[in-house]
Amino acid sequence: MEETQENFRERDVALEEIATRLSVRAERGRRFAELTSLRVGGAIDWVLSPNTEAQAAAVVHEMDQAGIGWRALGSGSNILADDSDHHYVVLSLKDLKGELEFDGDRVSVPAGYSLPRLCIEAGRQGLSGIEGLGGIPGTVGGALWMNAGAYGHEIGTVTETVRVARDGRVVAIPGSDVQWNYRHTSFREGELLLGATLRLKPDDPEKIRTRMEDAKSRRLATQPHGSRSAGCFFKNPPTSSVGTGKIIDELGMKGSRRGSAIVSPVHANFIVTEGEGARAEDALALAEEIRERVKNEHGIELEYEVELWRSSPKTKSDADETQAETDRKEQK
Ligand SMILES: Cc1cc2nc3c(=O)[nH]c(=O)nc-3n(C[C@H](O)[C@H](O)[C@H](O)COP(=O)(O)OP(=O)(O)OC[C@H]3O[C@@H](n4cnc5c(N)ncnc54)[C@H](O)[C@@H]3O)c2cc1C
Repeated sequence: MEETQENFRERDVALEEIATRLSVRAERGRRFAELTSLRVGGAIDWVLSPNTEAQAAAVVHEMDQAGIGWRALGSGSNILADDSDHHYVVLSLKDLKGELEFDGDRVSVPAGYSLPRLCIEAGRQGLSGIEGLGGIPGTVGGALWMNAGAYGHEIGTVTETVRVARDGRVVAIPGSDVQWNYRHTSFREGELLLGATLRLKPDDPEKIRTRMEDAKSRRLATQPHGSRSAGCFFKNPPTSSVGTGKIIDELGMKGSRRGSAIVSPVHANFIVTEGEGARAEDALALAEEIRERVKNEHGIELEYEVELWRSSPKTKSDADETQAETDRKEQK
């Protein structure tokens, strides 16, 4: 359905009513350039920021009932959002921080909690299994969504239960019901993750700290730091023993530039942006140039690890259609 100004006005009235009734902070005038680590991307119609799991579950239920399109956003560290206006609601989970609850070798954590902070706190408690993830600059929700991993650890491996929003309620599902693949899970578009309980292994806090420091040093030595990036732009190809960074490096593309976007001279699988008015368009053009060269010279189709967020309006039915398309492709 083509969205008209009248549709948007009706949506805005409905949304303001929902946000007020549920006491959820609702803002206009935010831009993806402020909310993502690449520091690019256009204006967002609305940003809603619930601060409890129950409030988040209720608000997405109400939006689904009213047919209002929304997307969940953590720290925005894995997203390249278009430069144009985004006519949907961004549900920011950054205020859903809450407190960690430790119980023996388990820890319960809300989706908006910082992943690096969780790793530090777990290590202090003498709980091992996520220390490799300490340098991933996102929320726990974002990490669960794509099964974040590094240095031999993946979050899915230690996830005992995930709390999700279902019909306005907080529901715990076993981690074993989720398919945890390489930077991909079976969570469906439109599923909101509210928190998780991780089951870790007791170990000496000092040993955990050393391993965490080791992972940090390796990261600092091999990746750009202090730059505006979204981490690795492409997944490693399943058919190649060589990582994507090395493939791009061997094409001599380190330092290649398109406007405000550059292939990092430190790690060729990182695209970094520069300047005040940096554009998603530049980063995407550079990424497509990389894909084309890798395709022509190695016959490999690089798959994006970063998520590309288009500016077109999204409704639940669009999301279901996208998922159906993905399922069809996966079955081929
Ligand atoms: C310097 C740097 C290094 C990185 N290194 C690594 C690495 O080593 N390993 C790795 O795996 N990743 C890495 N990343 C990528 C990124 O940090 C991770 O993917 C991280 O887990 C994303 O979390 P986020 O909160 O920023 O999610 P976002 O980028 O905000 O969102 C990512 C996806 O998760 C969804 N999402 C987020 N929260 C929720 C929720 N509560 N419910 C439902 N969906 C949700 C979003 O809708 C989106 O689809 C790196 C990024 C940077 C900038």
